[in-house]
Amino acid sequence: MQFIAITGGVISGLGKGTITSSLSHLLVNSGLKISAVKIDPYLNFDAGTMNPYQHGEVFVLDDGSEVDLDLGNYERFIDVNLTGNNNITTGKIYKNVIEKERKGEYLGSTVQIIPHITNEIKQWLRGVSKKSGADVVLIEVGGTAGDIESMPFLEALREMKRDGDHILFGHVTLVPEIGPSLEQKTKPTQHSVSALRSIGIQPDMIFARLKGNLSLDARKKISLFTDVPEEGIISVSDVKNPYLLPEIMRQQGVLDYIFTKMNLSGLQFKDKWEEFRRNITHPKSSVRIGIVGKYIDLTDAYISHREAFIHVTGKHGIEVDLEWINSDNLKMDKSQLSNLDGILVPGGFGYRGVEGKIEAVRYAREHNVPYLGICLGFQTAVIEFARNVLGLENANSTEFDPSTKNPVIALLPEQLEVTNLGGTMRLGSYPVVLEKNSIAGKLYGGTEAAERHRHRYEVNPAYIERFEKAGMHFSGKDREGIRMEILELRDRENFIATQYHSEFKSRPLNPSRVHEFLVLKALEKTGGTK
Ligand code: GLN
Repeated sequence: MQFIAITGGVISGLGKGTITSSLSHLLVNSGLKISAVKIDPYLNFDAGTMNPYQHGEVFVLDDGSEVDLDLGNYERFIDVNLTGNNNITTGKIYKNVIEKERKGEYLGSTVQIIPHITNEIKQWLRGVSKKSGADVVLIEVGGTAGDIESMPFLEALREMKRDGDHILFGHVTLVPEIGPSLEQKTKPTQHSVSALRSIGIQPDMIFARLKGNLSLDARKKISLFTDVPEEGIISVSDVKNPYLLPEIMRQQGVLDYIFTKMNLSGLQFKDKWEEFRRNITHPKSSVRIGIVGKYIDLTDAYISHREAFIHVTGKHGIEVDLEWINSDNLKMDKSQLSNLDGILVPGGFGYRGVEGKIEAVRYAREHNVPYLGICLGFQTAVIEFARNVLGLENANSTEFDPSTKNPVIALLPEQLEVTNLGGTMRLGSYPVVLEKNSIAGKLYGGTEAAERHRHRYEVNPAYIERFEKAGMHFSGKDREGIRMEILELRDRENFIATQYHSEFKSRPLNPSRVHEFLVLKALEKTGGTK
């Protein structure tokens, strides 16, 4: 078992996650078994309670863990299903250590950051390696070298090398391009590597982030100051699309360099993304899809949707231009909806922006615009139908109006018995039973699908008969037939919504079925062909 740890320097937001994912992609397609771990040095136990405005999307895994969005990138680039253990936080580590201390497992010794916290970190990382059976585990350390929060993690990684673990270090830095001649400045890289060395870590690789390509001069200079051989310095230029990065890195010989360092031989990289890349770089047609949500100032809050659309582009060569529409203002400005080829209402929590989303569904339904609703976008489709087709006054979800006369979305009776709100969330992969002759049945081409969930409220069973009679059809349900999972409109070919989040399982060569459906229907609307 071997490890590659990726640290960051100079500033945050350099795309460490994309670099880690790209490396993982290159290694897995060279025939190695790969796993990846994200270390988030914050104190929160997990990302579940974190505000998407600050941290971007909360990603959900099969096992129901709520994790950092980088895990989504790993899954997409490696094409693997990860578990909650692949996301370490300071909160998780301290919780384990304190629990052990309470049980007396430290036999009365003083419990300290070194060695107790660091041992816990090392044990966790080795555990992931063992359990996954991976040949190589990539470890991405959040934050930048020198942050107080990340110190114990870097210390643990330093110790692992000392303990005899096979571990390579890659450091991501920024090379600013200054002045009219865009001179490439290596000083920030030098400083950042020296910060890393001062805690005992000598990088084996440097990933230099810059707009263009690293000049030979800059490469030589970085090598001289950091002791990293020139072959270990990889130029990571700005790319239009993250899926283009693995190939850019591969062409610089990163794989050969790593294989030599790791003593691996006889491996051959197989490029599975050739056609996918061609389709995203040279699309043949395009559609405009509006995403109606309240977190649109930070589009990372909807990253898995963005990625799912790129996967569709990669399969069909249809470019998807995303229009971000703020559901908060929507009541005032419906004109934003008027020149779209398709509308997506994604998930969300809390009442703010909900009325705008309901307006968006209404617009899509009344103007025959292709519609996809996901989670809250499913629930708002139900509420809209109840209000405007069934005429149920003030129909709502009890999440937004606990005393509504028409609670079309509500907690099920068994959920009401659980007093702890957090405990009632339905998280992770659950089977969805599909009706054969429905749109959904045809999209999935089978009788059952497994999709990831993250929600609390359900369609109220008391209203289902009325919906069905009026033309809203539930074509996917849970195995018990109690929870509604997919809805369609009987008189519409281009309207679908799901209670689950198919965006979480969308992969480059296997796009989310419903996102693909929306794009194809949107293309039909434009009159365009593939
Ligand atoms: N707020 C809704 C619920 O809890 C929808 C959740 C979501 O969109 N992820 O059921």
